[in-house]
Amino acid sequence: MIIASNFKTNYTREKTKSFVCAVQAAIQEMKSMQEVRIFVPATALDSFHEVASLHVGAQNFYPVDNGSFTGEIGFEQLEEFGITTVLIGHSERRHILGETQEFLARKYDFAQAKNVEIVYCVGEPKEIREKGIDAVMSYIWEQFDGIDISYSRLVVAYEPVWAIGTGLTASIGDIEEVLERLAEKLSAPLLYGGSVKVDNLESILHVKHCEGVLVGTASWNEEAFCKMIAVADAVKKG
Ligand code: PEP
Repeated sequence: MIIASNFKTNYTREKTKSFVCAVQAAIQEMKSMQEVRIFVPATALDSFHEVASLHVGAQNFYPVDNGSFTGEIGFEQLEEFGITTVLIGHSERRHILGETQEFLARKYDFAQAKNVEIVYCVGEPKEIREKGIDAVMSYIWEQFDGIDISYSRLVVAYEPVWAIGTGLTASIGDIEEVLERLAEKLSAPLLYGGSVKVDNLESILHVKHCEGVLVGTASWNEEAFCKMIAVADAVKKG
């Protein structure tokens, strides 16, 4: 399974390094079977000499190798640190930073051409959830406009917007229903994200079609994040 942490706009370079080192040591000690991802702030990108099952990824990039895009980070800057996994479509970039579907598709095409793993996030806001599952699914499928779902390094994270950073988690039934519908059309691994914590992780990982989680807030504590990896190791999926 994939257990991913999104640091968002938290942690310095120094703190990031000690976090990554601590998680690596824990993975080795536990002999963990999980694929671990840590999406760090751009200022903390580095060459971490990761163990094979842990990859440090980028939360964002501008879809160019380099150029005149003041304040942005191109792929050349990611490649300098051997970055092989990126987040695209996170709700904070869609709804706070205003990234449109057209722009996200451009980022996606660019990352796909670079052959990196793409953790592509989709999810509905509260007002759409209140209209029921059909409205939720048509909203989510629109978030695949321009996205090549046949890409072999695609991972899809279902993250209801109203559950991100709010402490509200989608019910197991709701997660199951959305992942089931996604799995009808997608062959990519499916993750859930939205206020995942050590306490609710096990039941989420038992959901059919759930192949991991993308975690923000609760993953920022390295002990808790390592515990999540251990919980995933203990889950046997039938
Ligand atoms: C996220 O940032 O992708 C996320 C799911 O955050 P949180 O776990 O805090 O809801």
